[in-house]
Amino acid sequence: MFVSTRGKAPPAGLSAAIAAGLAPDGGLYVPQNLPALKPEDFAGRDTLPAIAARLLQPFFAGDALEAELDAICAEAFDFPAPLRALATPRDSVLELVHGPTAAFKDFGARFLAACLSRLQRARQQPLTIVVATSGDTGAAVAAAFHRQPGLRVAVLYPDGRVSPRQAHQLGCFGGNIHSYRVAGSFDDCQALVKQALNDATLQQAVPLSSANSISLGRLLPQMSYYAAASLQHWRRHGEVLNFVIPTGNLGNAFAAVLARALGLPLGEIVLATNANDVLPQFFAGADYTPRASVATLANAMDVGAPSNFERLRWLYPDAAALRSAFRAVRVDDAAIRATIARRCRDHGEVFCPHTATAVHVLETLRGEGRDGDWCAVATAHPAKFESIVEPLIGRTVDVPPALAELLQRPARAEPLAADYAAFAGELQRM
Ligand SMILES: *Cc1c(COP(=O)(O)O)cnc(C)c1O
Repeated sequence: MFVSTRGKAPPAGLSAAIAAGLAPDGGLYVPQNLPALKPEDFAGRDTLPAIAARLLQPFFAGDALEAELDAICAEAFDFPAPLRALATPRDSVLELVHGPTAAFKDFGARFLAACLSRLQRARQQPLTIVVATSGDTGAAVAAAFHRQPGLRVAVLYPDGRVSPRQAHQLGCFGGNIHSYRVAGSFDDCQALVKQALNDATLQQAVPLSSANSISLGRLLPQMSYYAAASLQHWRRHGEVLNFVIPTGNLGNAFAAVLARALGLPLGEIVLATNANDVLPQFFAGADYTPRASVATLANAMDVGAPSNFERLRWLYPDAAALRSAFRAVRVDDAAIRATIARRCRDHGEVFCPHTATAVHVLETLRGEGRDGDWCAVATAHPAKFESIVEPLIGRTVDVPPALAELLQRPARAEPLAADYAAFAGELQRM
């Protein structure tokens, strides 16, 4: 069973918690009990889908989706998450960039889609997923839900404020994916989505759900690649693997924290942020003070109020214990640029701006004399951010085949005013 971080909602089963998104008291769903796992529990399992199925089995036990877990994992994790050595000794990178939209959000979005499409089979009316996006989330959700029977997606993005490649990715699906370019900001898009999700009258005609990073159906599967990478390292070297994770809403990093809490052989977890430094300030001893985000080169991490912080507080109710368990380091745009340019010049390694924050923090740790085996997490492919990366490295970045395929399709998005009546009308006509 799953309970709310705010403790004022009844426990929910897995399917209900996935379908609901947010708990009814406004909190985030977390497991009521943490199962205990050991590396030996994964004996004979080498692939990402096989490791994911064993890892997630305790969470699916007794649920309507239990019998489907193997199939869901096979469907969602059909691309690799390789752990590659970097040129610097005992450093590696976990590449989460080989999915259809070339960012780590493909893992969670595809798993959520695989769960929701199965839960939809029993229902008559289609379910509409509404997403506001500043870029990566919307593309991952669109790709994951494309052609899923019984499911439709309305993606809202701020017109002119996403990169041309991101806009293309958002508009290239068609079919059950409806893309809207909103005359307004990301906050306007998010406000429209929130209003729709709270509109009980509208939802009698058009059942709605969300797919944002607080969804349990995205959080749980994200543990899988940490399990697979840390097990691979453990089996080869008999040592834990330490991680540096690019962090915005804390969804990806919290999945690593949870995997470690279950007993997987992860060592230290260090958070890398951009100039949005609410977390570095908190871990350095300041109060937790969410604020408005500032724009940086690592724009998918431009978050001033990390939504999964609530889950971290749930796992570590004591603030002093929480502060001593983690470290978070702020990386400004100048350091992001310098890291991208230097790693390419010195080692031929090319990173996106988000991944560069983690690589920079890893270099800082080594500079402080830290030993052990460390892994920086690569959250997006540099080809998605070519307008930033290419001038810094002085050459073009090869576009991976999956991304190239999307960019070849025609793309179109409907214009939409930042007006709730107009949006509600679109949802009814879809
Ligand atoms: C979303 C995203 C992040 C931040 O992940 P969180 O789960 O929000 O912390 C980092 N890098 C990229 C490329 C992303 O798309």
